[in-house]
Amino acid sequence: MLEKRDFYINGQWVAPLNGTDHHVIDPSTEEPCAVISLGGVEDTNAAIAAAKSAQLSWMHTDPAERIALVETLIKVYEARADDLAEAMSTEMGAPIDMARSSQAGAGTWHLNGFVETAKNFQFNRPLGDHAPGDRIIYEPVGVAALITPWNWPMNQVTLKVGAAAIAGCTMVLKPSEESPLNAMIFAELMDEAGFPAGVFNMVNGDGVGVGSTLSGHRDVDMVSFTGSSRAGTLISKNAADTLKRVHLELGGKGANLIFDDADEKAVKRGVLHMMQNTGQSCNAPSRMLVQRGIYDRVVEEAATIADKVSVGPADENGRHIGPVVNEVQWTKIQGLIEQGIKEGAKLVAGGPGRPEAFNKGYYVRPTVFADVNNDMTIAREEIFGPVLTIIPFDTESEAVEIANDTPYGLTNYVQTQDAQRANRLATQLRSGMVEMNGTSRAAGSPFGGMKQSGNGREGGVWGIEDFLEVKAVSGWSAE
Ligand code: NAD
Repeated sequence: MLEKRDFYINGQWVAPLNGTDHHVIDPSTEEPCAVISLGGVEDTNAAIAAAKSAQLSWMHTDPAERIALVETLIKVYEARADDLAEAMSTEMGAPIDMARSSQAGAGTWHLNGFVETAKNFQFNRPLGDHAPGDRIIYEPVGVAALITPWNWPMNQVTLKVGAAAIAGCTMVLKPSEESPLNAMIFAELMDEAGFPAGVFNMVNGDGVGVGSTLSGHRDVDMVSFTGSSRAGTLISKNAADTLKRVHLELGGKGANLIFDDADEKAVKRGVLHMMQNTGQSCNAPSRMLVQRGIYDRVVEEAATIADKVSVGPADENGRHIGPVVNEVQWTKIQGLIEQGIKEGAKLVAGGPGRPEAFNKGYYVRPTVFADVNNDMTIAREEIFGPVLTIIPFDTESEAVEIANDTPYGLTNYVQTQDAQRANRLATQLRSGMVEMNGTSRAAGSPFGGMKQSGNGREGGVWGIEDFLEVKAVSGWSAE
């Protein structure tokens, strides 16, 4: 079994000071695949101290130098992308082809996006023509704690590290204890790219240990967190005493509004998007809202498509979905499927238990519930598994009301050929993102939510600005 106990602190791989062993479990087999160490307070303090001592010199580097280092990082990242994909596939269950194309691919996409954005970002700019002596200077927030989840591991790590590095923050990354191995490879890449000692540090650990030490520490100036709303609340409370900046990217319960004039691929697209990454995406379109006139046909089509989604081990090539990440998630999903049945939703595909071919591994049957109403538990809770709920609606305003009746507000989706209706809905849906007719948001578009989906924005210029303070200066002399 792989032994990966060390942490990356101050430019060195170091043995834990007060860590405890933790097995990383391969969800395809339920067997341990590696042992890591969960750091303690002393390990976390050492990483924070390294980040603090590197902060002053790093913040005063020319942004062009920081951009150049991220460009080098992209090169070394690309060279090791297969290793990253294999690690993610083993530890969190993403099928290997998808791990290569989407999970590892997302990292290159984000890092390139930051480089392009940063080249045009003015860190020191005039306030405006009306005030020639006034200047706006963007400075790094300081030491950033980056706490990431397991579901899109490299996506989240690169969104935070790329932006923090370009902004001039030093950082301590605490990846999810469920998926630490890819982050450890990433730390090797930061080292290889030549970031100065102390700029990037990585400590493995759990939320209660390293996570809460980071969020409560007086030398940490900001926490950038992606994960559950539950942990986001705990982090916000713990961070309050030191009044640090807290940037949150949390859960979702996205609605996918399918009108009777939707294009013919809309239903298939919606079901497959829900099943992607085995339903473990914060922006999953998990509530399909369907206009009454096409409802029966859509339910039938959605069930047929879900029945055809194959499930298999993460190390097999192909377009199947893998297991969910761990036993806790598997059990939670099973409980929610049972709850859906109990509350009277109509099961039209999948259901409780593993798919027939498996008696081991955290596999879940691709499941579709019809005749759901928005008060049912399966319509309210983020299930984080391959479970789609279908809810009927009659009018556009009713669809908006149902879509917005959730504590979350991350991504909503609209399927209609009526361009005016699409634009109207874009302004009425309470979410950080709205995607129309299967069109992805372009490079540089910010990712983030409203309400209990969080307050941060990642990617593009907004992603960098989240790691910056704005300083206003008067009496600036033109040289
Ligand atoms: P989680 O909240 O359990 O864990 C996320 C990270 O937070 C892990 O590193 C964990 O160790 C740490 N953590 C847990 N409790 C903590 C605490 N009290 N203090 C400090 N750190 C703590 O979430 P998860 O199960 O790893 O990830 C799934 C969740 O992430 C889902 O809710 C999903 O919607 C959300 N997510 C959101 C986005 C987004 O951008 N909005 C993206 C991906 C995932």
